[in-house]
Amino acid sequence: MKGSIAGMLAVTLWSAHATGALAQSNGPLTVRWQEGAQDCASSPQRPLQVHRYDHHTFLLRQNPCSSPEANFLYLLIGQERALLIDSGAIADPGRMPLAATVTGLLPRKDGTSLPLVVAHTHSHRDHREGDAQFASLPDVEIVPFDEEGVRRYYRIDRWPDGIAHIDLGGRVVDVLPAPGHNDNHVVFFDITTGLLFSGDFLLPGRITVDDSAAFEASAQRIAAFVRDRPLSHVLGSHVEQDVEGGLYPMGATFHPNERRLELAKADALSLPGALAEFNGFYSRHANFVITHPMHNLAAMGACAMLALALLAWWLVGYFRRRRARQATRMR
Ligand SMILES: [Zn+2]
Ligand SMILES: [Zn+2]
Repeated sequence: MKGSIAGMLAVTLWSAHATGALAQSNGPLTVRWQEGAQDCASSPQRPLQVHRYDHHTFLLRQNPCSSPEANFLYLLIGQERALLIDSGAIADPGRMPLAATVTGLLPRKDGTSLPLVVAHTHSHRDHREGDAQFASLPDVEIVPFDEEGVRRYYRIDRWPDGIAHIDLGGRVVDVLPAPGHNDNHVVFFDITTGLLFSGDFLLPGRITVDDSAAFEASAQRIAAFVRDRPLSHVLGSHVEQDVEGGLYPMGATFHPNERRLELAKADALSLPGALAEFNGFYSRHANFVITHPMHNLAAMGACAMLALALLAWWLVGYFRRRRARQATRMR
């Protein structure tokens, strides 16, 4: 009896805390992320920065010096298990102590750490290389990242229209397919905090499109999903812009004056329109840039071919004229 009252109390406190987290989380995140360095060798920095968002939610960031992708990873803790969203760009625990950090953050229950699920927003390597660090740990389940494995694990029959749920114990996280950047991209919505973990689907930086039609359809579905839900922040996997909106060069290890990580519900609602108007190559918006690398590459290739054709045409003309001049002189 005593135990069950204590249990009820714990649940009540946990729920109250969760509700409180949502109520107080609409303001800006109170964290200053490490900016990396121009010369990382002469400016040693912590490889991984941990920000405690609330008692059950942690935001982790890989230092730009450790990996220019500088991925953000997210740890959500429930009563029965925890969920790590993305494992980042680095497999070597000597360079990136991810597994040790994450297991150190997990609450202990009956003498052991809470079981952990390692999931991914999508299959690009910078979101899953850290899986290797968890592979041999007990009570860790790694969600497959291939298309078939993702659908099977989440039991999403109607891809991409279905919605799956991960129950962490007193905390249910929705999993929504969002292909377009990557075929098996998913985003996670945590009703407890109102946080939408958007991966590379929506972030303050380059939103790179692989499949325009799939991306636009995903944006419409996600916008419809969040429209009537209490969304506190959209948290993506990278920040690639400074406070003025300028993009850091690809591969930059230094992020001075980095803009805020969090995007708003308005950004999620504006994405379908931005994609509908996308010119197929590059478009700049208030809080992100949309780009289609393959189209840009094809356009650059076409420009290079045109330049070569013009050069060849000019050279043929030049030698013809020269031959004609020489023939005139010979006569
Ligand atoms: Zn990606
Ligand atoms: Zn990424």
